[in-house]
Amino acid sequence: MACRIIYWIVICAVSVDRVILGIPIVEKTVMSALLNQLAEIVGDGGLLFGEALAERLVPHGHPLAIVRPRTTEEVSKVLKACSDVGQPVIPYGGLTGLVEATASNATEVAISLERMNHIEEIDSASRTMTVQAGVALQLVQEAADAEEMMFPLDIGARGSATIGGNVATNAGGNRVIRYGMMRDQILGMEVVLADGTILSSLNKIIKNNTGYDLKQLFIGSEGTLGIVTRLVLRLRPKPVSQQMAFLAANSFEEVTDILNRLDARLGGSLSAFEVLWQDYYRLVTTPPAAGKPPLAHDYAYYILVEALGGDDSSDADRFLQVLSDAMEEGVVADGAIAQSQAERDAMWAIRDDVGQVGQHRPVFSFDISVPLSKMDSYVVELRQALNTKWPGNHLSVFGHLGDGNLHIVVGVGDKSAKAAVEAVVYAGLPERGGSVSAEHGIGVQKKQYLGLSRSADEILVMQALKKTLDPRDILNPGKIFA
Ligand code: ZN
Repeated sequence: MACRIIYWIVICAVSVDRVILGIPIVEKTVMSALLNQLAEIVGDGGLLFGEALAERLVPHGHPLAIVRPRTTEEVSKVLKACSDVGQPVIPYGGLTGLVEATASNATEVAISLERMNHIEEIDSASRTMTVQAGVALQLVQEAADAEEMMFPLDIGARGSATIGGNVATNAGGNRVIRYGMMRDQILGMEVVLADGTILSSLNKIIKNNTGYDLKQLFIGSEGTLGIVTRLVLRLRPKPVSQQMAFLAANSFEEVTDILNRLDARLGGSLSAFEVLWQDYYRLVTTPPAAGKPPLAHDYAYYILVEALGGDDSSDADRFLQVLSDAMEEGVVADGAIAQSQAERDAMWAIRDDVGQVGQHRPVFSFDISVPLSKMDSYVVELRQALNTKWPGNHLSVFGHLGDGNLHIVVGVGDKSAKAAVEAVVYAGLPERGGSVSAEHGIGVQKKQYLGLSRSADEILVMQALKKTLDPRDILNPGKIFA
């Protein structure tokens, strides 16, 4: 066995030399030694480089190698080895992020937790699930469902996005209004710091005010402060009823009125409040889009409403009553209630048919937040500014309105206009206390705009934390901060 390992390491050393020919000789020697050390730590097949790496689909640049540890201890040893020589490390989740937070180059080593993909325990009494960070979101959802519970976080990339990646980006999605973002689903966390220190706090309790809640630091840190290896997730009771409707409103005031009524009268069961501005609604309910319009095309706003509850017949009665009252009082201009699972699925499909914005390619996509009281004026001003600068532009606005989160897609017929369009979209945010990133993060794409949503002092404190936890700046360098 020993012979085999030695032989294998020799093979590695030869291959590594071939891979890094472009790197100066001293660095090359250090790198060669490091890669051999990493290969030894993660075992047979744990280190990908050369041809094995070339076959991998990696967005935003190929790293020199991908190291794939199987345990927290291996993650710790990998980071200690990298830290000792100042080697930059790029943490990989499912690589479904939207702001290039996993961008890398041939001098960087990626660390993927794809072999740490086990669900370790489901504790029904505590309503918790303990998982390794490389498990896919959808597998967590399915495992909770099989135990008659629910893991409520849901995003389109559920099949490939990992729980660790969801933590790194503090993922949001469609049901945040009821259950909160990823931050609200985490009770315990195990994380490895840049120097290899393992911080393990696999806490299962909701209340735990014993000093600083360190896990919060790592949620949404985009892999810059530590590498999350294991989590204790909070589960919820599995809903037994799902009520859905498409509503129309003529004014934004009515939209917020409807939100407040439903939130107040549905007894806390409101789980989605997705608003589609008229342009987007027309786009996703007109061929070539497959969606059939549940309501006529001439209203200003369309709202997809969902309530999840615990009693099918009384929930349906209450849902109908609340919507009927709103229609009678003229707050809701028109409405269609889904009568079957097929109709409910069709309603979600309309909202989620985001690919239709490609009809106006090239397009630029945004993920912003604005306080509800200032959202209408923001969109009106944005539309005016775009029309002045690019007459005939295509603007689609939709989003998780209950969370103040809008997705905006702009097509101006000019691929090179990205920076000019960004300037227009972000211009109205600082004065309204808005955010340049609601749920996607900063990564590389938005780092030049971080200062529009965070003060200089806030950014200084963030950088001081980064320096404390990662003094050699090896963890995902060049992300978040310009
Ligand atoms: Zn979203």
